Amino acid sequence: MSETTKYLLAESQIPSVWVNVLPSLPEPPDPPLHPGTRKPIGPEDLAPIFPMELIEQEFSPQREIDIPGEVMDVYRLWRPTPLYRARRLEKALDTPAHIYYKYEGTSPAGSHKPNTAVPQAYYNKRAGIRRLATETGAGQWGSALALACRLFGMECTVYMVRVSYDQKPYRRMMMHVWGAEVFPSPSDHTNAGRTVLAATPDSAGSLGIAISEAVEDAATHSDTNYSLGSVLNHVMLHQTVIGQEAKLQMQMAGEEPEVVIGCFGGGSNFGGLALPYVLDRLAGKGPRILAVEPSACPSLTKGVFAYDYGDTGKLTPLVKMYTLGHDFMPAGIHAGGLRYHGASPLLSHLRKLGHIDAVAYPQLPVFEAALQFARTEAIIPAPESSHAIRAAVDEALAAREEGRPRTILFCLSGHGHFDLSAYENYLTGQLQDYEYPAEDIEKSLAAIQPVGA
Ligand SMILES: *Cc1c(COP(=O)(O)O)cnc(C)c1O
Repeated sequence: MSETTKYLLAESQIPSVWVNVLPSLPEPPDPPLHPGTRKPIGPEDLAPIFPMELIEQEFSPQREIDIPGEVMDVYRLWRPTPLYRARRLEKALDTPAHIYYKYEGTSPAGSHKPNTAVPQAYYNKRAGIRRLATETGAGQWGSALALACRLFGMECTVYMVRVSYDQKPYRRMMMHVWGAEVFPSPSDHTNAGRTVLAATPDSAGSLGIAISEAVEDAATHSDTNYSLGSVLNHVMLHQTVIGQEAKLQMQMAGEEPEVVIGCFGGGSNFGGLALPYVLDRLAGKGPRILAVEPSACPSLTKGVFAYDYGDTGKLTPLVKMYTLGHDFMPAGIHAGGLRYHGASPLLSHLRKLGHIDAVAYPQLPVFEAALQFARTEAIIPAPESSHAIRAAVDEALAAREEGRPRTILFCLSGHGHFDLSAYENYLTGQLQDYEYPAEDIEKSLAAIQPVGA
């Protein structure tokens, strides 16, 4: 008998709902606060930049939310995504562990991000919005939103962190192919960008700055809304299609994961895979859940759980989250999608409650695992996703040490076809480990003003 490598679902098995953990939490997360008054915000505060249906999802008390038919029609272009058993990697590691990975790189943009870009474009279109503005780091989110806007006949403006705009031309070109307009951030297109440029003309940019630019663009144009690719509750909600499918596929494989792993930028691919399993934990019987971040931007492992701004310009609401401080300027590591100072408030809350573990890795061991994966499983992983691979490999090696099997499930959030220069740098010995200096973290943490003190 041949051994199964891919666990595939039928189109009819694409989840028909998104699952919402908010009503199952033992205690609610602290509410977002208005940046000016520091009082809890209401739907009306978000209405200038988000459509009401997404605002409702942000605070929804419903356990399940139906996925609209038009969104399902688009999901069917690439969903369901495959679940693989990494048999060749297991052999190379000589481990008794069983390693499974859910591969989200089969979407047209090459990552999990279209799972939320598509419903976000859909709800905005329904609300009569003509254009979406957003930020992007490595270009994954920008390309996903450019695609989604195209499919719903909307315009898309992307503020792309300058270092990536220069280093990752292919994602910029993808956005252009799908018809988006792309500015390197900081740009002179917004007040927020001009302010940064006046102080630091050669700024490499950051997600925090690019968010300020996109939010300002949306807030100052009535036909334009803002769209965020991670962090927010409605994004986590949309991404739960990943974990719901994975659960069905693990059932096909006849196994239960003992540990569920995802790389962590703002938390959306991790949350997408993990949240359906978190529901099991909240009901008393779920797996260990492990988030993996870069040592160069260690919000979950070195940050504080505090109210902070989502952006450098302090335009966003204050949210309670693990943060390195809104002024934190991450080093230009190759996993651009993981360079965010904060973390999803929902996942931060769950970490505070003890449901989520976290670990940070420098980029050299991450690329080492990426190479081992590419040379056994054949897929060239995105540098972001490779953080999850590193942790999965270490779990498998620990199982070997113990001489006991272990069932490991991780999210392979995307492919690395547009990150080949990072691989080239690694292979030619030009990649360096980078640990953020502790005193610099202290400085950016000190810029967080306590709320309610
Ligand atoms: C954007 C991105 C990430 C990080 O974002 P999350 O919201 O934390 O998932 C991870 N992997 C890939 C491939 C990405 O494009």
